[in-house]
Formats: sequence, structure tokens, C-alpha cells
Amino acid sequence: MNSTVDNVPFFDLKAQLAELRPKLDAALEVVYREASFVMGAEVERFEERFAAFCGAAHCVSVGSGTSALKLTLQCLGIGPGDEVIVPANTYIASAIAVSQTGARPVPVDIDEFYHMDVAHVRSALTRRTKAIMPVHLYGQAMDLRELLEVADAHGLAVVEDACQAHGATFHGRHVGTIGNAGCFSFYPSKNLGAFGDGGAVVTNSADLADALRLARDFGQRRKYEHLVKGDNSRLDTLQAAILLVKLDHLSVWNEKRRALAARYDRELGALGIPPPLRRAEAGHVYHLYVIEMTQRDRARAFLAGDGIQTGIHYPVPFHRQLAYEDLGLLAGSLPKTEESCRRVLSLPMFPEMSEAQLRHVMDGIEAFLSAERVGRSKALSEVAP
Ligand SMILES: *Cc1c(COP(=O)(O)O)cnc(C)c1O
Repeated sequence: MNSTVDNVPFFDLKAQLAELRPKLDAALEVVYREASFVMGAEVERFEERFAAFCGAAHCVSVGSGTSALKLTLQCLGIGPGDEVIVPANTYIASAIAVSQTGARPVPVDIDEFYHMDVAHVRSALTRRTKAIMPVHLYGQAMDLRELLEVADAHGLAVVEDACQAHGATFHGRHVGTIGNAGCFSFYPSKNLGAFGDGGAVVTNSADLADALRLARDFGQRRKYEHLVKGDNSRLDTLQAAILLVKLDHLSVWNEKRRALAARYDRELGALGIPPPLRRAEAGHVYHLYVIEMTQRDRARAFLAGDGIQTGIHYPVPFHRQLAYEDLGLLAGSLPKTEESCRRVLSLPMFPEMSEAQLRHVMDGIEAFLSAERVGRSKALSEVAP
């Protein structure tokens, strides 16, 4: 079964679930017996373990990654009339979280690592700017050194969107612990995923952690004592039990993703396709393995014909979505982001992906490139017979 493969999913949880099934069943069984489904013992245990994993003083779990971002901004005092600078190249949730606070997301263009360009951040600063939200996109840590200087000089908060970067590091330091706070998502397809929605904030600030604990649970520290108008955004006990089991495997899974990425790098290089640019200081966790191709849409259709699923992250940036029409940003206003949206292609990537599956993807890409070459020389010979 492993020697020949005729289709490769973009992402597949089934093998991981089969392997973990006995441990997961046992962990869930404990929750069923305790019958404490909200704020049960597993929630606190997971928070302690995830804080320790990241090297953060505190972890506060919440209902989703979006909620982690929104509540963190709100607890930092961000709201209507404020601006938060975000990279244009991100999943729309980064921007939506800002909008949910009543503040305005201000998109800036990206650098060659798909991270927000700090020069553009500087020029986007206004009197209303209150925070900057760097996104560790695709699982690669952004270099936050210069950004932190800008934030310090202007008294701005830095909220890291680490929703794609569980375990990613910069100079050995975990993402999420470099700015004021780091926000994670446990959506099932993330590097650490639950069986539904979930999220967490890590921070070294005891005050922020305390405010977040109130914000996620109706503003109560003790039952029926409501100090602020908090939200209802908690991590289910069942999800925490699942995440506790999976957290033990995260480092090994990330290692497997890195090994697959190194295989892709070599094979693509041999075909003349540049592998993704990497920062030497960044411990990349390859939530996504993203290459660029000018003939991206044709490549994608060709690969699909070979049973190879790919993804596009993202086809349309948030400032060009109907939802953000109010920003009034025309096509071409953030050119690097818009160009990358036309070129990026995410190849299949998950820890359990086999060598045979990788082989099949590479054979598909090679076949596509030679089909393109034949097509081009045919077209040329038609023009000049
Ligand atoms: C997944 C994701 C989010 C949102 O997380 P949810 O748990 O789905 O709300 C935010 N930002 C980025 C970059 C993401 O990839």
C-alpha cells in the first residue's frame, strides 16, 4: 500500500487519529466520568502544560484563535476609534478579530518571508495606532526585533498571531512569548488541533492573563460575581483532554514536517523551483509548505488530475474581500501581497505523509513542468513555422 500511491490529500488526520485512538479514548473516558464539561480539571492542566511548552509564564485558554486575538486586544484596551496594523497577507481572522473590538485593521504589505514589512509598518503609524499584530505565517517565525523597537518608541502593544506556528521559534525563543502576548488556534487542521474550535493566549504579564480569565468567562472570578462584561469563550474540557494527549506529540510532528520540507526543498531545487525562503534564525514548523509558480492555476488543475490536492493561502487578501469594502483599498494598493496571492501554491504537508506520497507529488510536478515545456515549444513552432 505504501509503494504506489494514486492520490495525495492536502491534509489528512485519519492516520494520526488511528495511532492516538487508545490514548484519546482513555482521556475522554475520564472527562465523561467527571462530567465537568466546562472549565474542568483538564483545562487548567492543559494551560499549565502549554505555557511550559512555550516558555511563557501564563496561558489562558479560550474558545478559538479569533477569540484569543479579539479578547487580547480588548484586554489591552483597544476598541472603537483605534487602529491595529496587520499584514495584508494573512487569514482573514486576524483582521476580523481587530474589527470585533470596534478598532480598524490597517493592512500593510509583506516582505520576502510573507511577513509584515516593518518599513511599511512605520509609514502606516497614525495617532490612532494602538497595536501591531505580526503574523507568523505558514509556521515561520517573523523577526520581531525591529518591530518591537517601533512599538516601544510609540508605546504600542504587540500581539502575535501565532495561530499557524505552534512550536515555532526565533533564536530558540517560542513565538507568542516575544511580544505582549501570543495567540494560538486549535482548529483541527493546525499543527496542534482539537476536535473542533479552541484557542489560547500565552503571555508573561500576570495582569493581562488575569484580565483574559475574566474576559473569557462572563467577567467572573467567583461564580455570580461579575467584575466586567466578559464574553463566553472557553475551551471545552473535552477539547483540553484531547489537546493534552496531542501536545506530547507536537515536537515530533513538527520535526516530521521539517524533514518533509527538507525533502521537498531538495526535489524542487532539482526541478529548478525555488523552495520557500527561510530565515536562518527561525525554527520553522511548516504549518504550510508554500511555493510560488507563475502558472499556478494550471499547475493546480494538472496536479488535481493526478489525484494531488493542493491549497492556496490565500487566493484573495482580506483588503480585497467584500467584507472589507469599507477600507476602500483598490486593486494594486498592496502589490506584493496581491502578487503573492496570484502565485502561491501550498503542497500537501502533514506529519504522517509517506515517502511514496511525497514521490507522487514530485512526479506530478515534474510531469506538469514537462507538459508546459511541450506546450510552449508547440506554441512557438506555430508562431514561427
Ligand atoms: C486559523 C487562524 C486564525 C483563527 O483561528 P480560529 O481558531 O479558526 O478562530 C487566526 N489567524 C491565523 C493566521 C490563522 O491561521
